[in-house]
Amino acid sequence: MTRRWLFGLITFALTVGLASAQSLDSGNAELRAIARGISAARIRADIHHLVGFGTRSSLSDPSGANGRGVGAARDWIAAQFRADRRADGGRLQVRLDAFTQPPGPRVPQATTMSDVIAVLPGTDPNDHRIFVVGGHYDSRASNILDPTVAAPGANDDGSGTSVVLECARVLSQYRFPATIEFIAFEGEEQGLDGSRHAAQEAKQAGQEIVAMLNNDIVGGDNTPGHANTDRLRVFSEGVSPAIDAAGLRRLAATGGEDDSPSREIARFASALAASYLPDFHVVLEYRRDRYLRGGDHISFNDAGYPAVRFTDFFENYNHQHQTVRVANGVQYGDLPQFTTPSYTADVARVNALALAALALAPPAPAHAYFLPRLETGTSLRWDAVPGAVAYRILLRPTAAPQWTERRTVHGTQAHLDESKDNYFIGIAAVGAGGLESPPTLPSLPPFRRRPAAPAAH
Ligand SMILES: [Zn+2]
Repeated sequence: MTRRWLFGLITFALTVGLASAQSLDSGNAELRAIARGISAARIRADIHHLVGFGTRSSLSDPSGANGRGVGAARDWIAAQFRADRRADGGRLQVRLDAFTQPPGPRVPQATTMSDVIAVLPGTDPNDHRIFVVGGHYDSRASNILDPTVAAPGANDDGSGTSVVLECARVLSQYRFPATIEFIAFEGEEQGLDGSRHAAQEAKQAGQEIVAMLNNDIVGGDNTPGHANTDRLRVFSEGVSPAIDAAGLRRLAATGGEDDSPSREIARFASALAASYLPDFHVVLEYRRDRYLRGGDHISFNDAGYPAVRFTDFFENYNHQHQTVRVANGVQYGDLPQFTTPSYTADVARVNALALAALALAPPAPAHAYFLPRLETGTSLRWDAVPGAVAYRILLRPTAAPQWTERRTVHGTQAHLDESKDNYFIGIAAVGAGGLESPPTLPSLPPFRRRPAAPAAH
């Protein structure tokens, strides 16, 4: 069969309607059960418990004695993970990763800090992918250097910590081929210290982190008029600061500045939420974080890993980083009465769905290529993925924020009537359960990687 013939056949198959879906299929029973398993009552209890440590300033009492301070919070979080381990038959691996943070502007003297980590090992020994969900358990008051005053940190970031705990409780009851890590970071407020330590350790160990989901300020602040009910923001970087000059030239020549691996993870989570949680909207934000602000995902971005941040749609700065007080009749402070546990439960569902869908799906194709020919349509091919039963071609007009079309195909090449001039195109691998990987975006084939000089017309 000639290649032209083959492409003709594939085109025909596509035209007659081999699945053309606008959104992700919501038919996976395991994912639906995982979403149902998330409990707002447990999240409420976790946030109150974390607030009960008085302060979780990274400069507060590290001993864990007396039930107050960051050490007591650390030990309680580890105890929650250990309870999950007992419930799952001993699979969840729990550890403290202690490190010494040297003195700096927000750390007056060398300070031992600890990330609390639970690892749910993948069941496939050949699958080295790791998916991380994180939040920071430290808190702060107005004066970042004062660990003596109350710093309840209900929303920032008791809420994110509760998301991590709830995801561990629910997901540890399931089996995934890939590994999922649950991390409560210390030292975020002092300068992303715990996450930087974790990301650098992962990088040095050569770990294959495919996605890191950071939850910071996901408590659903309930300020009247700006109450968080049904919208969650997901921030993702466009162009990595680590991109080299050749990479920048490639972006300038062919586009793709809105298709970083981090942004594909954000799109993936948003599309999944649209299918499984139709009343809860994950709003794509095309920024690394809020304007001039930061969080623990940046430590992973800086280490070269795809990472995104989930945050309340509406923030109230009277309730963040503020010493608890009443001034001119206004209550300041990050208190639990300003949070909405049912909202945080939906945030936990978004995280758990994304982690499960990613860890159950096969990896994305390692490479995908446009065939180098001048044509009105688009011919492409990609590397076969072990475990994939099909592939899904994702399309979106170049100015559209989200994938608008999905077509299931078999084999490792396809021809589309649409022009790659007018669409961004991605290739995802589909597993036996129907779940798809994040997409790989095709580039020019390896024997012609450098973009050709633009033609005169
Ligand atoms: Zn925070």
